[in-house]
Amino acid sequence: MLNGKVAVVTGGARGIGAAICKKLASLGADIAIVDLKVTEQAEALQKEITESFGVRAQAFACDVSDAEACKALIKQVTEALGSVTILVNNAGITRDTLILSMKEADFDAVINTNLKGTFNMTQACYRTFMKQKYGKIVNLGSVSALLGTAGQANYAASKAGVIALTKVTARELASRNVTCNAIAPGFIATDMTKGLEDQYIDQIPMKRAGQPEDVANLAAFLASPESDYLTGTVIRIDGGLAIS
Ligand code: NAP
Repeated sequence: MLNGKVAVVTGGARGIGAAICKKLASLGADIAIVDLKVTEQAEALQKEITESFGVRAQAFACDVSDAEACKALIKQVTEALGSVTILVNNAGITRDTLILSMKEADFDAVINTNLKGTFNMTQACYRTFMKQKYGKIVNLGSVSALLGTAGQANYAASKAGVIALTKVTARELASRNVTCNAIAPGFIATDMTKGLEDQYIDQIPMKRAGQPEDVANLAAFLASPESDYLTGTVIRIDGGLAIS
């Protein structure tokens, strides 16, 4: 279904991003795995994807909070794999604490990676998507933005920003056949949530954590032609955590 498509997945080497890389590759897309550094984990994933799915995969280093680095990355990916058609803005960090004790540096780091990173990568792909009259942008939001989770002022605000940015991008690019949608996961079992199970599982109506593959299935739908008439939406995937 995604044969001939080139997907850039930020934060692609582990957690939800790695599951998205594998799912998109299983549907035929070539994959750019993008993280802060090209780690052994990224190289192992590159090998696994190439061998399991017969598509091209390559690991790249890029700090998404750096606008120039994002532009350079898209140039590199285009030279290596071809014109980008799918952008998954998945890179994200947390620095949780109450507002009272939140350091300015921790507020800035989370906004810069999660929100500005999503903006930077969207801007880096914007002209190409416009020109080719095709593009699929999938942004990782969070139910934290919808719930206003205590202890996550920086994170929740960054993800609320991502949701607003999703809507703006969708409106600006809709006439060019480019869609942009956001996923709002609840509690997904990754490094980010390790050790926090006791705090959250009880609040989830389904009484269990989600798996990275649950999110990857939804991301693949939003990256595929099956969602061509869907844009500017936010879809929760949270076992019911943020039912309102
Ligand atoms: P994770 O396991 O902590 O992985 C985060 C990934 O982001 C890593 O690959 C990391 O690369 C990369 N990254 C961090 N800062 C970066 C930067 N400045 N530039 C490039 N890459 C960077 O996280 P996850 O749980 O899979 O989360 C993935 C996304 O889903 C995030 O946006 C997160 O906010 C969102 N989300 C997760 C949950 C959850 O319950 N897990 C819930 C809601 C939303 P390195 O390995 O190089 O550091």
